[in-house]
Amino acid sequence: MPEGDTVWLAAQRMNTALAGGTLRRTDFRIPQLATLDLTGATVEEVIPRGKHLLIRLADGRTLRTHFRMDGSWHIYRPGSRWSGGPAYDVRLVLATDEWECVGYRLHDIDLVKTADEDQLVGHLGPDVLGPDWDLDEALRRMREHPDEQIGVALVDQRNLAGIGNLYKVEALFLRGIHPWTRVADVPELGALVERTRTLMRANLHRPQQNTTGDPRRGRDHWVFGRRGKPCFRCRTAILLGEQGPPTQERVTWWCPQCQAARSPIDPQARTGEPGRPQPVTLY
Ligand SMILES: [Zn+2]
Repeated sequence: MPEGDTVWLAAQRMNTALAGGTLRRTDFRIPQLATLDLTGATVEEVIPRGKHLLIRLADGRTLRTHFRMDGSWHIYRPGSRWSGGPAYDVRLVLATDEWECVGYRLHDIDLVKTADEDQLVGHLGPDVLGPDWDLDEALRRMREHPDEQIGVALVDQRNLAGIGNLYKVEALFLRGIHPWTRVADVPELGALVERTRTLMRANLHRPQQNTTGDPRRGRDHWVFGRRGKPCFRCRTAILLGEQGPPTQERVTWWCPQCQAARSPIDPQARTGEPGRPQPVTLY
């Protein structure tokens, strides 16, 4: 699943390949844009905004794509074999004389006036990896919903854009915060957000996301993907649960020892209130 840093890296690569170039061929393989042809347009720049990729054209239009859970852009030299998946997964091809950019499983493909970009991405909170990152604004947005669970608030792109599941669970572990803690009960909320951002920035140019600094296989994450395995700090088995509103649940890993519950609404609290609905499914 693309994290903000993956999107940032994709944007960097796309920008390197396309910025200043003229599109020689475009192929929109989605019904609503099947007749759109951007041949002849010059690409001004490619920038990330949360999990959106904005391809700005010199003629004042912006092509927006969204990665959601499974999208990706692959960049090839003309004539190379495409290897990003089956042909029916290709949604969009943008080719210059030098490069072929092939978008697989992309979502929300749209062409708008650049001046209207905010209509597509204006609801997003400050971009964690953007040049205009604004910690105070992100914290203000998060604190507007003090009863929200921190594990949900961190990945809510309306609060701050770019954080995905991996950095969420890893930063919560590093700060010793249980994922079901209320936002209002998180000690040093700003430090948590900055920790998440630091982790993402440290990984910007790494091919593999690593949050432990340990390059050995199986040691690259503290809790992510480690259900049932012993915590590297305390040897307690890592737990896995689902968190988030119905139909939007995301899996969450945590160490019940290093991330002890602090909040009474916490369904995993050792002194949990009987009778409360159990939003956690352990499996
Ligand atoms: Zn632990």
